[in-house]
Amino acid sequence: MLKRVVRRVGYAGPVRRTITSSSGLGRVTGRFVGGLDEVSAVAVAQRLRAQGMLTTLHVRQGNPVDEAGADAHVELYRRLVAQHVEAGLREGSEISLKMAQFGLLAPGGLDGAVERMRATVADAYAAGIGVTVDMEGIEEVDVTLDAVCRLRADQPDVGIAIQAYLLRSEADCHALASTGARVRLVKGAYGAGPDVAHTTRATVDSAYERCLEILFAGGAYPMVASHDLRMVEAARAMAREAGKGRDAYEIQMLMGVRTQDQVRLAAAGERLRVYVPYGPDWYGWFVNRIVEKPSNVRLLAHALVSPGPRV
Ligand SMILES: Cc1cc2nc3c(=O)[nH]c(=O)nc-3n(C[C@H](O)[C@H](O)[C@H](O)COP(=O)(O)OP(=O)(O)OC[C@H]3O[C@@H](n4cnc5c(N)ncnc54)[C@H](O)[C@@H]3O)c2cc1C
Repeated sequence: MLKRVVRRVGYAGPVRRTITSSSGLGRVTGRFVGGLDEVSAVAVAQRLRAQGMLTTLHVRQGNPVDEAGADAHVELYRRLVAQHVEAGLREGSEISLKMAQFGLLAPGGLDGAVERMRATVADAYAAGIGVTVDMEGIEEVDVTLDAVCRLRADQPDVGIAIQAYLLRSEADCHALASTGARVRLVKGAYGAGPDVAHTTRATVDSAYERCLEILFAGGAYPMVASHDLRMVEAARAMAREAGKGRDAYEIQMLMGVRTQDQVRLAAAGERLRVYVPYGPDWYGWFVNRIVEKPSNVRLLAHALVSPGPRV
């Protein structure tokens, strides 16, 4: 209920206009977003790398419904890869793609999107940069699995996000682990009904732990993407019990969330990767981060009264 109210307030025209009105990102909004373009995002990545963390960069520029907009995303990611190269950030860098960015909703549909993603995957791996594909709503799960399977035929390292809250995900984890896939395990950010998803916090958490077990026991490279320290500790314990070294899995968190734990885990020798979104369509991302934790509401209020440029 509270989340619905905060989301409604966040998207209300005047609130949105006030927060996005300044030329840059505000101090509060900039906590969660790596800037408006690839130059500022890679600069953020450089700062995180200097603190011993790995990074995943993700462009936020809407979901195109025409081919030109989808082609533009190939170019945006090409510029992002080139910027990594210019900054000397190759090994340990990753980019994350969404099917919808590459034209899933455009006339060319799935095939067109896969072709464009293939070009981006080729660009990235030629520069020594990894790729993972985000998972979106329930309607996109099958097409995303299909697309990643096709991309992995050329480049087996391409990873995929799996949402533990979906009832099907344990089976998907089994299938992916048997092929040695890199799997980013998340709880899931999109709503779904009880016919297809776990709907309580307790059942989602236990499903997350079962998926982790499947990934660790199978041949997957688990990417433990959660700010829930119980999940992170469960993963670390599973790795120890399975005799796996710290290079056999990684922990991932979002920029601006649990930053002290990010620093602590990296200092303890964990492979800790921070997901950094950037780009002109950053506002929806910011509101979603606010909604995830009720006490973040004060950040929304703060962004409203101090929308000035980032310091
Ligand atoms: C690297 C990464 C990639 C992701 N990719 C995808 C994807 O492709 N598809 C998808 O559906 N979802 C994705 N997600 C989102 C994910 O599904 C969850 O919605 C999100 O991570 C919250 O779940 P949680 O595991 O952190 O646990 P929760 O139980 O939601 O949170 C655990 C604790 O973390 C803290 N916390 C969580 N969020 C915040 C916040 N915004 N601000 C402050 N504290 C917070 C709180 O203390 C909370 O109690 C991704 C998440 C990460 C970290």
